[in-house]
Amino acid sequence: MESGAVFAGLHPNPTLLLGPSRSAIQLLPPLTDKKSLSPHLLPLQTAAAFSQKQSRFVPFSNNNTNSLRVASPASDVALESAEIDWDNLGFGFMPTDYMYMIKCSQGETFSNGELQRFGNLELSPSAGILNYGQGLFEGLKAYRKHDGNILLFRPEENAMRLREGSVRMCMPAPTVEQFVEAVKATVLANERWIPPPGKGSLYIRPLLMGSGAVLGLAPAPEYTFLIYVSPVGNYFKEGLSPINLVVETEMHRATPGGTGGVKTIGNYAAVLQAQSAAKAKGFSDVLYLDSTHNKYLEEVSSCNVFVVKGNVISTPAIKGTILPGITRKSILDVAISQGFQVEERYVTVEDLLEADEVFCTGTAVVVSPVGSITYLNKRVTYGSEGGVGRVSQQLYSALTSLQMGLAEDTMGWIVELK
Ligand SMILES: *Cc1c(COP(=O)(O)O)cnc(C)c1O
Repeated sequence: MESGAVFAGLHPNPTLLLGPSRSAIQLLPPLTDKKSLSPHLLPLQTAAAFSQKQSRFVPFSNNNTNSLRVASPASDVALESAEIDWDNLGFGFMPTDYMYMIKCSQGETFSNGELQRFGNLELSPSAGILNYGQGLFEGLKAYRKHDGNILLFRPEENAMRLREGSVRMCMPAPTVEQFVEAVKATVLANERWIPPPGKGSLYIRPLLMGSGAVLGLAPAPEYTFLIYVSPVGNYFKEGLSPINLVVETEMHRATPGGTGGVKTIGNYAAVLQAQSAAKAKGFSDVLYLDSTHNKYLEEVSSCNVFVVKGNVISTPAIKGTILPGITRKSILDVAISQGFQVEERYVTVEDLLEADEVFCTGTAVVVSPVGSITYLNKRVTYGSEGGVGRVSQQLYSALTSLQMGLAEDTMGWIVELK
């Protein structure tokens, strides 16, 4: 599920805030805790790619002492690997060295932002995001390849989705280019937190929010775009393992005309109750139905759903109540390239119960096979008593190979950072 990456809370652990090498300190904001420097500094790669990007950063309007000094000339900077047990990396939030931040006023456009030390934000209690939920998030991953390169998967898709959502939420948004460059800069600045090949990825979390103070209901006067990152393990460490879903017949995730189709933060607190109740009964998550007829599939709390019948792979069509997942879109293309017939249409509960296989997609899980569905106390299992279906396995392997740089990128989806 994508939900694994919806980080539960911020618990900064100062021992995890390891500092960059001495020469990196000239380039990047200073560290406060020098004692936490790693005793075994593993030189990895130079930060040449990072320094190339420096010229883009303009001084932050705020007099923030944490802000990046952009004037220092490029130098060979060795970045040491963060001291992490890469084999036991989970899906919790782990603070890293830097975050990207830029502000802009209502009615204006974002300029280029800058990197600063990762840390807490200062917000007015009256900020639009805190009072009226004016905010959007994104999620994507960076993988380290065996040759040392760093790979992003379709970051411009996240940029476009954020821009579309920003119209619905009355917020200014960075351009696609600004977004992608900001993601690259944030990843490179936190390079030592990217897990080694095969051990996981760096989860990237962009946020766009109304940070200015409002009281009467109105769009906030000021907006903040920020990006933070956290290393995460592979969702499925020992091969794919199927999840057990329950169809929710009382509560709905989205309504026609609502915000279900955009990645607004407000959509997520609203699914916690049904999800918690399902988990308490031993299910992995909830599958939502449309709010008008209560019979067409929509999606799981934070990932899209697919049903497989013979050679046909079907998924609910995007009609405003379903989040247009980038993994969803990519899986449809991969499936076509592998000879499957794909359909974006109304998918009924009957289609679901009669399917050969069911799986979910999202950035965190990529493809998550469904072992069983429970609908009105009736339980249906897929595959060999909840085993992993052939199609789910095949599509998971195909897409992750592309994302990790193990297969040739014939789709033009990969953005290399070096
Ligand atoms: C983010 C998200 C998804 C998955 O989108 P990806 O781009 O594939 O990660 C699906 N549903 C919801 C509700 C989401 O928030």
